[in-house]
Amino acid sequence: MDRPEQQYAFEVYPKRDIVITRGEGSTLWDDKGNEYIDCAAGIGVASIGHANPAVAKAIGDQAQRLITCPGIFYNDTRAMLMKKLVGIAPDNLNRVFLCNSGTEAMEAALKFARITSGKNGFISAMRGFHGRSMGALSATFKYRQEFEPLIPGHSFVPFNKIDKLTAAVDDNTAAIVLEVVQGEGGVRLADREYLQQVRALCDERNVLLILDEIQTGFARTGSMFGCQTLGVSPDIMTVAKAMAGGFPMGAVLCSEKITSAAGKHGSTFGGNPLACAAASATIDFMLDNDLPTQAKTKGDYFMDKLDQSASAIREVRQLGLMIGIELKTKSRPVIEKLMAHHILALPAGPTVVRLLPPLVISEEELDRVASTLNQILAGMP
Ligand SMILES: *Cc1c(COP(=O)(O)O)cnc(C)c1O
Repeated sequence: MDRPEQQYAFEVYPKRDIVITRGEGSTLWDDKGNEYIDCAAGIGVASIGHANPAVAKAIGDQAQRLITCPGIFYNDTRAMLMKKLVGIAPDNLNRVFLCNSGTEAMEAALKFARITSGKNGFISAMRGFHGRSMGALSATFKYRQEFEPLIPGHSFVPFNKIDKLTAAVDDNTAAIVLEVVQGEGGVRLADREYLQQVRALCDERNVLLILDEIQTGFARTGSMFGCQTLGVSPDIMTVAKAMAGGFPMGAVLCSEKITSAAGKHGSTFGGNPLACAAASATIDFMLDNDLPTQAKTKGDYFMDKLDQSASAIREVRQLGLMIGIELKTKSRPVIEKLMAHHILALPAGPTVVRLLPPLVISEEELDRVASTLNQILAGMP
């Protein structure tokens, strides 16, 4: 098929041959009018549904009033968002730095941890993903080989193994950097006990805990933030993806422990009123519709409908509406078959089918996704 984008794009993505032109709730349409159930949600972004009217209105209204306002000035819309963010975050996180993506949030988090601790050692998990800029990539296990040397001081330990992590901490360790559920790494859940042991280790050894909630944050896992589901409060929490209803935005939330970075960090677009208006409306929608509970209920509902005993399945991992189906074979052919049945899903590593639907998806749509998957998997050896 001839795709004009192919002629111009500097390609970094393996593409799927579909032109998406419109969305509403958990439905997407292509240029021919075909309808799809979206279980990708812009990679976990469209949690409140595509083209959410409340966010569209907030963006429209703000655009007509003020689009840009740098952080060197105060702004009413920004102040309103920050208050809402701190209101939904774990109690100890009461300062906010606003930026434009998850990667930027991670960059800022790593810098804030260095300023606070005066150290440059970071320990993160194998299979972890924190972004693709040189700093965030330094804390990321995959995608680094062609880009080394990266920033010194970063090391990796197996996820969910407290002994290995304890042994890796030394006098130069500034922070431990973890996801609550490893998203790109295959939907792998941190054990509750492990995270609590990590918290205790950090307190004991005077090390900061950075939790990357970029994929797990904003209601996806059944609480507003995954760490609330697991009962652990970080010193620094990074968020982005679903934060502003699809509008690009990221944030770092910090505890009192974190030293001010006044004059040492910044962002031209960070905290612009347009993004803040979108995020404010997104948080309101999430609270008004209790999306954390919806994520939990619907995730459990889907698990009931999915035939987990299919012989093609190795393991199913799930928290709220973050679902990973690990197969005994490659996941790509299953994702392609789902697309032929008008269901869009994501990979997470070579053998995992990942579902991150909008949290507003209906039970009927989840039924269709489960029964289609059951049918595809039943036809496999
Ligand atoms: C997506 C993601 C990032 C990077 O966010 P971008 O907005 O793509 O820069 C970082 N960490 C996690 C856990 C993510 O899922």
